[in-house]
Amino acid sequence: MALIVHKYGGTSMGSTERIRNVAKRVAKWARAGHQMVVVPSAMSGETNRLLGLAKELAPAKTNDAYGRELDMLAATGEQASSALLAIALQAEGLQAVSYAGWQVPIKTDSAYTKARIESIDDQRVRADLAAGKVVIITGFQGIDSLGHITTLGRGGSDTSAVAVAAALKAAECLIYTDVDGVYTTDPRIVPEARRLHTVSFEEMLEMASMGSKVLQIRSVEFAGKYKVPLRVLSSFTPWDIDLNEEAKSGTLITFEEDEHMEQAVVSGIAFNRDEAKISILGVPDKPGIAYQILGAVADANVEVDVIIQNIAKDGKTDFSFTVNRNDYAKTIDLLKDKVLPTLGAAEVQGDTKICKVSIVGIGMRSHVGIASKMFRSLSEEGINIQMISTSEIKTSVVIDEKYMELAVRALHKAFDLDQAAA
Ligand code: ADP
Ligand code: ASP
Ligand code: MG
Repeated sequence: MALIVHKYGGTSMGSTERIRNVAKRVAKWARAGHQMVVVPSAMSGETNRLLGLAKELAPAKTNDAYGRELDMLAATGEQASSALLAIALQAEGLQAVSYAGWQVPIKTDSAYTKARIESIDDQRVRADLAAGKVVIITGFQGIDSLGHITTLGRGGSDTSAVAVAAALKAAECLIYTDVDGVYTTDPRIVPEARRLHTVSFEEMLEMASMGSKVLQIRSVEFAGKYKVPLRVLSSFTPWDIDLNEEAKSGTLITFEEDEHMEQAVVSGIAFNRDEAKISILGVPDKPGIAYQILGAVADANVEVDVIIQNIAKDGKTDFSFTVNRNDYAKTIDLLKDKVLPTLGAAEVQGDTKICKVSIVGIGMRSHVGIASKMFRSLSEEGINIQMISTSEIKTSVVIDEKYMELAVRALHKAFDLDQAAA
């Protein structure tokens, strides 16, 4: 019998009926003799609702005082769903106790709204498990060194679950969600998308970082760092299906490349509408320019993604990069106020109506011509590529947002992802 961590997402926790269903499923695992730790998300829509209330009172601000209160607020969503699950489990006749992040404690840094987990104390949880209790730990949140509640960024309950599994050296971390695994692309966009039985850790990392929100990227990083066995599966199967069957369902994230399996060159397509493009035009072409621009951006704690610097003409060049849309206005202001005057650059332009589409696959390492096939497929659809970035196992393009779905569908087809693997 093993120590198992289950994570249930917002939709899976979306009503009292669904919470009762989760409780019955967890009870099934506990009665089979497993030690169970459960990490729930807030009920679906709750985090958006809470953050929306804050915005009604004051527009989003980037200072710590505002960020702290957002975390104080948003963390209540998971506190409520966790307590409700404990109550449902008790109603099933199990002993269950729920803890907020600070009660465990799950210690994080102080980067409000996107804090990182630093350590998890396992003592309290282990004592409860030893006493035969199911332990429920709120997803998405922790506490910083000053005792302030923090949250881990949208989708952060995945990361809580994997970090808890790592801290407890759990036999497996099962991420229950509203799809029955990881697909070749988001099945909401491409109905022909296929479920992958396994996906390598590296591919999952790229897919998550390129925008597939099925797993938060930090959860995949944690799984890789601590080798946590991780599986994504459906919470919508009947709760009383055979446990062994359930334990093998969904998509397993693997850490070793299977030598015997014929790898598809491209395993999946990810997309992301959360970025915005910023261009600085007429930048003098001299050493230190990239640092002057991006150093200032980094100092403001803004993450930069795709970067392009054009060839200089008449000693001037254009410099473009993408940032998260939430950081767009702040970055434009910063460039206008602090960077342009010292740089002697002409002007800043921005575009929020872009998206990034990426093809991902470890097979790309050993095959040539994959990127060009991507570019050809996009050109056949008349889609203009604005920026390109590549790594060993992915190629991303930035395109006009209005072509996103078209691009994803065309690429899904071009790389035969709707065909069952040979
Ligand atoms: P949860 O609330 O359970 O955390 P999320 O909404 O965060 O669920 O993530 C699950 C959703 O991720 C799915 O409903 C699906 O629309 C989306 N998704 C995006 N890319 C993929 C993919 N490659 N495979 C499966 N789901 C994906
Ligand atoms: N409730 C949080 C969110 O909506 C965390 C999560 O669901 O993982 O982002
Ligand atoms: Mg999620």
